[in-house]
Order: sequence, then structure tokens, then C-alpha cells
Amino acid sequence: MQGQSRSTGKPHTICLIPGDGIGPEITDAAVRVIAASGAAIDWIRLPAGAAEVEVHGDVLPEQTLDAISRIRLALKGPITTPIGRGFRSVNVRLRKHFNLYAAVRPVRSMPGLRTRYSDVDLVVIRENTEGLYSGLEHEVVPGVVESIKVATRDACERIARFAFHYARERDRHKVTVFHKANIMKLSDGLFIECARRIHEERGQGIQYEEMIIDNGCMQLVRDPSRFDILLLENLYGDVISDLGAGLVGGLGVVPGANFGEDCAIFEAVHGSAPDIAGQGIANPLALIMSGVMMLNHIGETAAAGRIKSAYNAVLAGCNPDEITQDIGGRAGTEAFVKALLRRM
Ligand code: NAD
Repeated sequence: MQGQSRSTGKPHTICLIPGDGIGPEITDAAVRVIAASGAAIDWIRLPAGAAEVEVHGDVLPEQTLDAISRIRLALKGPITTPIGRGFRSVNVRLRKHFNLYAAVRPVRSMPGLRTRYSDVDLVVIRENTEGLYSGLEHEVVPGVVESIKVATRDACERIARFAFHYARERDRHKVTVFHKANIMKLSDGLFIECARRIHEERGQGIQYEEMIIDNGCMQLVRDPSRFDILLLENLYGDVISDLGAGLVGGLGVVPGANFGEDCAIFEAVHGSAPDIAGQGIANPLALIMSGVMMLNHIGETAAAGRIKSAYNAVLAGCNPDEITQDIGGRAGTEAFVKALLRRM
């Protein structure tokens, strides 16, 4: 389970994977903001992504895996995955390799952002290692393919334990499971069976509810404030994270973390945004917020607090020259970062 280590005042060694698309632009922004927060970090820059095939012979080079194996902590930019062909997702590989079984994505209304709702405060907890992301696909006969959805009791119980532990630690009051166990009676059936059992064992004082996911989506867009923690298997967690982002201002404002027993990789929910890569207009805030989660995780809470106060102040200021286009402003990445740094 993820732990909070104490700040020692010594520099922390942390892996940095810039990724591709907008990744290098936003990781550069995050590194500058974290440096200004007072947290001392020695970054180890690591390659990953399509461009690495020519240089290192793999999209996920051995040196990257080795460094994360040693350091057990990384901040990661997004990495592109080809659609319908090509190599397997580097993101999925990393999560599997380091057994980062729990993705945590806090979805919160942000000050100053005009959205349909002002009171969203929920956390998506996504099982990160199995389901339909197991990569078990094959062609049975020409024109017929199968994708296998894997659910194991171990992984379903483990993510449920994580969710109830997280709820207790953070004074959260309710865990809602979205599922489709009316159709996928065995796989989603096992997921809710495990969640129910773990709730009985460890969920004292925490409400538990189940919702068929189609109804859940409707309830979520109608009144997100009725939800607290959403516990989801892999695919549903992926989809609902983006839906959640849409409720609070978009992908530019939703951070994330992938936790294993003794390893964590922090990354924004969004992808590599190839449509805006290299234009200097990407919003680095979701990655910066992921950096704040990372700083809290390593005990650098004062530094985390400084960054959080700074971005809240910039957003609350509603100055279009200080916020990026995706959240209603006209600033580029650099102008936004400068506005943040001025508040720190
Ligand atoms: P995406 O999240 O990259 O982009 C969706 C939309 O949101 C685009 O219009 C994009 O411009 C916008 N957007 C995303 N992040 C933004 C930011 N920080 N600032 C401003 N606008 C932003 O999703 P996609 O287009 O479906 O996927 C693109 C690629 O990213 C794919 O190859 C996909 O596999 C990959 N991906 C990677 C990760 C990851 O590295 N963890 C996660 C999701 C998708």
C-alpha cells in the first residue's frame, strides 16, 4: 500500500519520463514549478515512446525499467500509443511491469473555472492491471476476433482493499462501484462480489453502493456531487476518468497516480495530445497537480501546498492572459508557468 515518507531535507531522487507529444513541454513546466516550490529533487531523465525504437531498440528501454526498479518513484509525461496497430501501450506495460495496481484520479471543481457544476469532489480508483487491458487478443478465424477480459479474485480484492483504505485515510464516506455484472456475470460479478466482501470486512462507517455503469454515467453527469469514491475495473476507470475531467473543466485539470506496493508513478489523466503538440499551448496543470500528489506522497507537504496555493490563485484570478486556452484563457504554456511562478 502507498505510504507517506517523511521529508528529510536531503534531495529526493525521482525518475522523470518526459514522454512524447506535449509530454516534454509539460514535464519541463512541472520540473520548473517543483524546483520553485523548495522541494529538492534530483531528476533522472528516462526515455520512453516511439522515438526510442531507433535509439534503444524498444519503446520502453531497459535502462528506463532498471532505473524505476531502483528508485521506485517517477513523474511521467504522456506517451502516444498507435491506434488499431503497432506496439503495445507503454503506459499499460509500465503499470503491469511494476504492478501499479491502483490508479487514483481526484476529480475536483477548480476555483475560477466556469463549468456546469461547482461542487464536484470525487476520486476515481481504477484497477490498473487486468480487465480488457490484459492484451489477450487474437483472430479466431478471418473476420472474427476475441479480446479476453481477465478478472482475478486477488486483483479484485486488492483494489477493493485499496479503495476502502483510501476512503478511511482521507475521511471519505462512500464507495460506489460501477459495473456491468448484469451482462458480464462472471468477470464484473467477481469484481462486485469482492468489493462487497471487503466492504463487510473493512468498510465500517463507509457507505457502499453498486450501480450498473450505464445508469452510473447518467447519474454522474446529472449530479456528480452525489458521488465520493468511484471504484472501477480497468476499462470503466479509464473512460470514467475522462468523463470526470469533463465535469470540472477538462483534461488539463485532472491529475493522477499509479500505486503499487512499493512503487508509484505519477501522471496526468490526459494523453499526448498530438493535435496541439509543439505549439506551446498545452496546459501543464494536470501534470503539475500530479507532481503535487507526488510531493505529498514523499512527505514534501509544504512544497506541495505552495504549488497548490499558487495554481488556485492563478485560476481564481480568472485573467485570460494567465490561463491556457483549454480552460478558457488565451495564455500559452509559458505564460501560465510564469503566472504560477510569480505566485510562489
Ligand atoms: P488526449 O488526452 O491526448 O487528448 C484529448 C483532447 O484533449 C485533445 O483535444 C487534446 O488536445 C486535449 N488535451 C489533452 N491534454 C491537454 C492539455 N494538457 N492541455 C490542453 N489540451 C489537452 O487523448 P487522445 O487524443 O485520445 O490520445 C492521444 C494519444 O495519447 C494516444 O496515442 C493515446 O494512446 C495516448 N494516451 C496516453 C496516455 C498516457 O500516457 N497515460 C493517456 C491517454 C492517452
